[in-house]
Amino acid sequence: MKVVYHKDFNQVYTSDPAAAAGRIEAIYTVLKDNVTLVESIPAGREDIEAVHTRSHIENVTRRGLYDIAALAAGGAVQAAKIGLSEPSFALIRPPGHHASADSSWGFCYFNNMAIAITALKREKMINRAFVLDIDLHFGDGTVNVLGDCGYVAICNPGSGNREDYLAEVTQKLPDKGIDLFGISAGFDYHEKDWGRLLTTDDYRIIGKLVRTASRKNNAGCFALLEGGYNHDVLGGNVFALLEGMEQG
Ligand SMILES: [Zn+2]
Repeated sequence: MKVVYHKDFNQVYTSDPAAAAGRIEAIYTVLKDNVTLVESIPAGREDIEAVHTRSHIENVTRRGLYDIAALAAGGAVQAAKIGLSEPSFALIRPPGHHASADSSWGFCYFNNMAIAITALKREKMINRAFVLDIDLHFGDGTVNVLGDCGYVAICNPGSGNREDYLAEVTQKLPDKGIDLFGISAGFDYHEKDWGRLLTTDDYRIIGKLVRTASRKNNAGCFALLEGGYNHDVLGGNVFALLEGMEQG
């Protein structure tokens, strides 16, 4: 599988847990011998401005975070484009699903998923997309940007036990009408992370379910990194999701 990555994502750009030292390395170490790495390039200004207000972009710039946030967003765009022909993953940070058009919180600055899908829509590479957000936290920013656009359906599963959670994902994935499936892949729902729910194998199952749905739709699929904070299990969880996406 092609994995979009850049060594600059190892930078500790803030003091929040998404920017923690060793977090990207923990994933990179597990993936590096099993994937084809593609170097991330920054998102173009027009792709960011298609999603975020100028005042929000200026705010991110004032905080010294424009370059790293644009590099993450650009990696998401690349992964989405690769995803049209083969499953792909963006190993990027900062995460994005709490970034709305005019504000952001929760360790996010630019909405990587929204920027990727909007860019492909603007370039007429897709008509309709489906976003599955498996992070522990509700992806409010993605709903803010894409919820009313009319061409993206968004699912934030939230059932209380793992069997119900997987059943909810299975049931919500559409059989037709979608050109691209994007997984906002947070791993903080893992049993050894903040959410204490899903097993490593559940990420393999989710990857498989999404790939199977994408085949039914004759659609592409890609995933990008959101949360996930236990460095001891994070690499294995990402790898499980990617394996599932290749098997489905
Ligand atoms: Zn989260």
